[in-house]
Amino acid sequence: MKYLDEYRDPALARRLFTEIRTVTSRPWTLMEICGGQTHTIVRQGIDELLPPDIRMIHGPGCPVCVTPLELIDKALAIAGRADVILTSYGDMLRVPGTTTDLLALRARGSDVRVVYSPLDAVRIAGERPDREVVFFAVGFETTAPANAMAVLRAHALGLPNFSVLVSHVLVPPAMTALLDAPDCQVQAFLAAGHVCAVMGWAQYEPLADRYQVPIVVTGFEPLDILEGVLMAVRQLEEGRAQVENQYVRAVHRSGNIQAQEAIRRVFKVRDRMWRGIGTIPSSGLALTDEFAAYDAEARFAVADVTAQEHPACIAGGILTGTRLPTDCAAYATLCTPRTPLGAPMVSTEGTCAAFHSAGRQPTGQPAGQPVPAAAAGPS
Ligand code: SF4
Repeated sequence: MKYLDEYRDPALARRLFTEIRTVTSRPWTLMEICGGQTHTIVRQGIDELLPPDIRMIHGPGCPVCVTPLELIDKALAIAGRADVILTSYGDMLRVPGTTTDLLALRARGSDVRVVYSPLDAVRIAGERPDREVVFFAVGFETTAPANAMAVLRAHALGLPNFSVLVSHVLVPPAMTALLDAPDCQVQAFLAAGHVCAVMGWAQYEPLADRYQVPIVVTGFEPLDILEGVLMAVRQLEEGRAQVENQYVRAVHRSGNIQAQEAIRRVFKVRDRMWRGIGTIPSSGLALTDEFAAYDAEARFAVADVTAQEHPACIAGGILTGTRLPTDCAAYATLCTPRTPLGAPMVSTEGTCAAFHSAGRQPTGQPAGQPVPAAAAGPS
């Protein structure tokens, strides 16, 4: 398939592995930011095939995983109202809140619908003026332009029954928080190519400079990842700390200016709570005053909803790259894709789901054994 097969070529992959081995003279620790990259790395076994001196740790780039539990509970509180149609991308439906999830709520009669675009939610609002239609707007900078366009569209159509529950997070402040952490082990980043396709990569230059950390904008296919690793290791070996762009087929330095303008018009930057990590300054988006009327949190008065994480879940350590899913006592036993205790086991971009679908064993279980039968689920 065009644009896929040429980035999965085994002969080129072998060549890149050899080149990485050749340039590596000492141990380095790299973090891939995006959960999509994590899935490629784990599914293809790239982390196990790299030279032992190259350690890949998995970053917080799964937007579903870092959505705070409070927001899931707020979505549940809103969806439970008889006058509401709650719309969302499918991933969010199975993310557990404190006591239940949106899928279970739907089974009990709530009107919860999966949409493929926020504009579908706007269309539903137009068709059902008798109901409040809420879109659960989750994501990084990647999905923010479409969600901004939905608000602009609802505004242009004069739809008073449309609102958004906003849970947008921004990547550079999260990287800053990781680098500021006293136990930070990251020596180079593979930045998320799709985020940079929207925002460009100029905003990463002050980070590379200030922390002397190489940042390579990287795509999602196996050869993208291997080339990104090679470029990062080369920089580390040569003592350079620059932003480089591996994903040249999709990313320009300045990004998508029109998309950025839509984001700026509808959203403003605010402090944001990241699930398992805590509050990161200036790391989220909220509606600007001009569009505050579309804020579902204010419309349904759910600002004081609080939440309780499952005590077994170590998602914070997973999302900061300091722990592996296999370190979690609940991994593949209590927590499986069928019975997730935390968001990283639900989302297709979650690290725990990536480990489970690749059959990675819980710590202490010999390699080559199947993932415990009771735990095996669709993935
Ligand atoms: S395996 Fe489940 S309980 Fe453990 S960290 Fe991952 S999501 Fe949380």
